[in-house]
Amino acid sequence: MNLPDEHNNNSKDYEYDAVVVGIGHAGIEAALALARLNNRTLCLSVTLDNAGYLACNPSIGGTAKGHLVREVDALGGEMGRAADRTLTQLRMLNSSKGPAVHSLRAQVDKYKYHEYIKSVLESEENLFLRQGEAKNIIVENGEIRGVETVTGLVYRAKAVVLACGVYLKSTIIVGSVIEERGPVCFPRANYLSESLEREGFVLRRFKTGTPARVKRDSVDLQKLEIQYGEDTPYSFCSLDLKPKKKKNVCYLGYTNGKTHDVIRANLKKSPKYGGLIHGTGARYCPSLEDKVVRFADKERHQFFLEPEGDGTKEMYVQGLSTGLPADVQLEFYRTIDGFENLEIMRDAYAIEYECVDPKQLFPTLMSKRVRGLFFAGQINGTSGYEEAAAQGIIAGINAARYIAGEPPVILTRDSSYIGVLIDDLVTVGTNEPYRMMTSRAEFRLLLRQDNADLRLTPIGIEVGLVDKKRAAVYKKKKRDIAKAEAALKTVLPQNALEEYFARIGDAPAKSAMTAEEVIKRNFVTRENFCERFGLFDGLMPAAVNHVFIETRYRGYLERERRAADEIKRVESMPISPDTDFTKIDGLRNEAKEKLAAVRPLTVGQASRISGVTPADVNVLIIRLKNA
Ligand SMILES: Cc1cc2nc3c(=O)[nH]c(=O)nc-3n(C[C@H](O)[C@H](O)[C@H](O)COP(=O)(O)OP(=O)(O)OC[C@H]3O[C@@H](n4cnc5c(N)ncnc54)[C@H](O)[C@@H]3O)c2cc1C
Repeated sequence: MNLPDEHNNNSKDYEYDAVVVGIGHAGIEAALALARLNNRTLCLSVTLDNAGYLACNPSIGGTAKGHLVREVDALGGEMGRAADRTLTQLRMLNSSKGPAVHSLRAQVDKYKYHEYIKSVLESEENLFLRQGEAKNIIVENGEIRGVETVTGLVYRAKAVVLACGVYLKSTIIVGSVIEERGPVCFPRANYLSESLEREGFVLRRFKTGTPARVKRDSVDLQKLEIQYGEDTPYSFCSLDLKPKKKKNVCYLGYTNGKTHDVIRANLKKSPKYGGLIHGTGARYCPSLEDKVVRFADKERHQFFLEPEGDGTKEMYVQGLSTGLPADVQLEFYRTIDGFENLEIMRDAYAIEYECVDPKQLFPTLMSKRVRGLFFAGQINGTSGYEEAAAQGIIAGINAARYIAGEPPVILTRDSSYIGVLIDDLVTVGTNEPYRMMTSRAEFRLLLRQDNADLRLTPIGIEVGLVDKKRAAVYKKKKRDIAKAEAALKTVLPQNALEEYFARIGDAPAKSAMTAEEVIKRNFVTRENFCERFGLFDGLMPAAVNHVFIETRYRGYLERERRAADEIKRVESMPISPDTDFTKIDGLRNEAKEKLAAVRPLTVGQASRISGVTPADVNVLIIRLKNA
């Protein structure tokens, strides 16, 4: 759509450097990044009451998602700080396993999270919040010019970020009842889909679901297992805000045969199994009816009862999302031990919404079709607050760099989970809501959550998004790591080791040993070593933790680094975005088609496109070398 003449109003009210559509987890990070990089930024949302709204589980982080939150924080984002400020319980998941899968998960107060985020957005210089529904994107000669709202206002901008989440033509489904609205009771976005289709974007319909919210007092909590949080003062934010210790607990419960019988007896009434909806759902967030059908042999399915916030009695039933009719929901929930007198406060529901095929984007998250138009979050086919925030900060940084005429930031697969996420989306694409998992990353040991700042804060500093305070913490950590590494060479006397090893149940020392040799021994932990030997006293715990992990896993880390460097050697061979793959002799037709569709920017990205063989990659490399 071209810029309507009558709206050639160039007053400042309608003129911005950038417009961000959406105030969800992607929109927040994009808008803050743009504003903090000195761009006059308008943030539009169909309602301002859903700023940072946690439409589903009242928690931030978890396996692989905790890594994303730390990476967003390392780049100067806000999600980590928001979670630390509003958490109600904290747990380090997978702590009995290796450090590659250690993942922080915070239960948060969703109402305080919304308030905190909205106050941060409202007090950010250069950022203007506006309630309004974006109806059309305005494009001229293949370049974005702004957006038009349903009330006819036109906001001009040099860059636009669409972070529309689950709101594009969303429908809420409970049994056979379908309502045209957004999650909770927020309004949906009715028009933008058509505007995108007019510009040639391919949209598809995805689905997700959420469980009921139930009244705490109506649950017999004695019949459930208490899940305590941890006291260890972990934090998502490297500024180490020392989150207030919170004693909130969650509860673990199980469905049973009676529950599954009610589900089976009413399967036809479920929107999916009744054929009412066709949106593609999330394989890794299945509804209860999906679990009962797909895992028919399982006698019970676990769920967690999680408080939605300190000031409410609403509890979230993690793991029991459904689209079954409201009366059936009450019937099957009440078959569960402890739920006999359950009061449902909000019905569970399924939601269908439109999203774009992310293969229409470059790894910068800018669209290939419209220069200056970026997409971030669930609109790209992902599912999850953390996945959304990760895309939001990259889209925001790259929209700012696009405006400034600076080269974009592209994170590679060996640099971060964000790099893995975006590369998977724009290269392979996704046919169902994409959720991040540690198994998606080749270099898990390199991409640990504890070294996110060491991997990404230098980039945050370079692009100008990391403030002085955070940069100072990063530099102190680096200095302390250097001091700790130097201390590794300290020789520890045999007699001291005798007593220490005897106390921790380890084999006796045959002679004096260096601290490095001692740390590699199985029974040695960071806690018992630091308690016995004050080598690392006064150094940041995060720095000491890093050196411990790097020392104990040195061999594995070196092997993974060599593999990453090898891939990087090929990975980084650039391919010009204007390459005409149909003209490259020796490439198979399927490869020509797929390469022309994805338009990879590097040989590495090309090698990951399904249908492009190693032989095709060799043809490409030879062609590039001879070019
Ligand atoms: C019912 C439900 C269940 C979910 N279940 C899970 C789950 O099990 N696991 C999981 O990981 N994630 C789940 N999620 C997803 C999670 O909520 C999202 O992944 C996350 O919120 C996405 O963030 P986002 O910023 O991309 O979009 P959202 O948080 O959806 O925010 C989108 C924003 O865009 C605005 N907007 C949209 N269109 C327009 C327009 N045209 N004009 C103006 N403003 C507009 C909206 O007002 C909103 O502010 C669920 C979400 C819902 C709704």
